Amino acid sequence: MITEIITIGNEILLGQTLDSNAAYIADKLTEVGADIRRITTIGDGNQDIVNILKESMGRADLIITTGGLGPTDDDLTKSAICQTFNRKLEYHPDILKLITDRYSRRGMVMPDFVKTQADQPEGSVLLENPIGSAVGIVIENGDKRVISLPGVPSEMRAMIDQSVIPYLQKHKDSFNIIFRNVQTFGTFESYIADMIRKNNFTHEGCELAYLPSLKGVVLRLTYRGDDQAEGEKLVAKYASELREILGDYYIADDGRDLVEVTTDLLKEKHATVATAESCTGGMIAAALTDIAGSSEYFLQGAVTYSNEAKTDVLDVPQEILVDHGAVSGETVYHMAKNLRGKAGTDYAISVSGIAGPAGGTEEKPVGLIYIGLAHPWGVDVHEHVFGTDRQINRERTVYHALNHLRMKLLEK
Ligand code: ATP
Ligand code: MG
Repeated sequence: MITEIITIGNEILLGQTLDSNAAYIADKLTEVGADIRRITTIGDGNQDIVNILKESMGRADLIITTGGLGPTDDDLTKSAICQTFNRKLEYHPDILKLITDRYSRRGMVMPDFVKTQADQPEGSVLLENPIGSAVGIVIENGDKRVISLPGVPSEMRAMIDQSVIPYLQKHKDSFNIIFRNVQTFGTFESYIADMIRKNNFTHEGCELAYLPSLKGVVLRLTYRGDDQAEGEKLVAKYASELREILGDYYIADDGRDLVEVTTDLLKEKHATVATAESCTGGMIAAALTDIAGSSEYFLQGAVTYSNEAKTDVLDVPQEILVDHGAVSGETVYHMAKNLRGKAGTDYAISVSGIAGPAGGTEEKPVGLIYIGLAHPWGVDVHEHVFGTDRQINRERTVYHALNHLRMKLLEK
């Protein structure tokens, strides 16, 4: 199903609002098989909206718009739809009741002009808005459909999940894309490409795309065709071949990322973890607790930024700090080892590094990071040298620390 997304609003064109709606819609609809070909942003001008709707109708089977559905003067989407499809507005008393009830539940009186929210293009299918007053509008025009949603991101998201996807799934036969993401971590795009080539991996009938980020490279397999069962079979086969080739770099191909896979392993093994962080300032603890149910495995996290904190809180010996410095393998060794004892956890992660941009020396450059991992069989120390960007160094440290934990959990 060839799909286009149109986001409407002057605030997006002016750069005051980041167009997060388009990304959300593209992500969710791709998941259910839509083939997103174009995303357009257009201002709040009636004729501009009519023109882009007509243009997109010439190319796509499905068009999703967001924004401009409200009752204020700058909300023009509804009238543009009526003009494009030659429809009149039709009054829906049930919608008016929903809106007045919503106001009175909050003890508010509805301003008169809000009543226009009950007027909808004749012959449209209306999609429920679970959290706001603007309903979604579906115009079915031959085989083509235009779905208009409000711009408020929380409302738009709720409607995509609860109304639009169920509506589209009723027309499932029009979807013709199947994809599978193989998440990797721990090596570069070029090395992965090299591994894949050396193993003579072929992916006939599927596209293979490399999508790198700090969380690792995603290998995306895409099938475009009419035979859904064949598509499912192909992406599953190629994903398992990639898994073999990638070895330890393979994280998952079921939509989970490194953090989720690591925390799932902790849960599976009924293992607990604590963190002691310096340069990451609590980011590892934040990643580990980002997931519902994290109290099962995460017991405590300390941010021991100063040397005094490393001594006071974690009993890192003074002489270790003096002889080797705070950024050293010896320091993270003691941080992790002592933390594991104090916290009573199965695992303890520690990090110390020079995140940058300043603070590097010849001997210890910016980007030098040590990660300690205390586990039931000993303590491992890993040295990494990243780049010069502070934020990127901190994020990389988080993911590498979690990856060391993941590897250890897989080992034993
Ligand atoms: P309302 O009923 O609130 O008037 P609406 O459908 O008319 O809803 P807009 O007025 O266009 O929506 O936008 C409402 C809010 O949502 C604004 O604060 C706007 O910045 C935000 N918003 C609109 N479009 C997007 C988008 N594409 N991405 C992120 N935020 C958006
Ligand atoms: Mg508005």
